[in-house]
Amino acid sequence: MNIRNKVLVVEDEKSISGFIRAILSSNGYDVIIARSGSEAFSMISSHCPDLVVLDLGLPDMDGMDVLTQLRAWSLMPVVVVSARTDEREKVRALDAGADDYITKPFSPREVLARVKAVLRRCARPSHVLHLSGLTLDQDAHSVSCDGQRVPLTYKEI
Ligand code: CA
Repeated sequence: MNIRNKVLVVEDEKSISGFIRAILSSNGYDVIIARSGSEAFSMISSHCPDLVVLDLGLPDMDGMDVLTQLRAWSLMPVVVVSARTDEREKVRALDAGADDYITKPFSPREVLARVKAVLRRCARPSHVLHLSGLTLDQDAHSVSCDGQRVPLTYKEI
């Protein structure tokens, strides 16, 4: 099964959101767009995106507030895009929980590469449990003891 990652782009400038949508959707991502902070929150709860690309300059609120509010309840990956090039702004966003920070103007390839890298880092860890010699691998449905695979019945799998 091929699961496409869904990316929410929070950006009020149509030309920029369109440009990000074009590069991401042509590379196999589903892209949805919010044009304000409040729209972003309603789309996050209704669409559960895998990653958010967040502009800091939004019409109704500062993108930093969107990030801070989101981080109060979610570890959803966030890539900030901003025209703010001040190092302090970048540090503030990263400290507030941004996974990456892209400075405008940026190239399409840079956005794509950073989105890919963040999604790779945040990919679901495999569910493997080690207990003194015993290894339980939930994804592979296997159990091994001191490296030897333990045969399981259908029910146990
Ligand atoms: Ca903006």
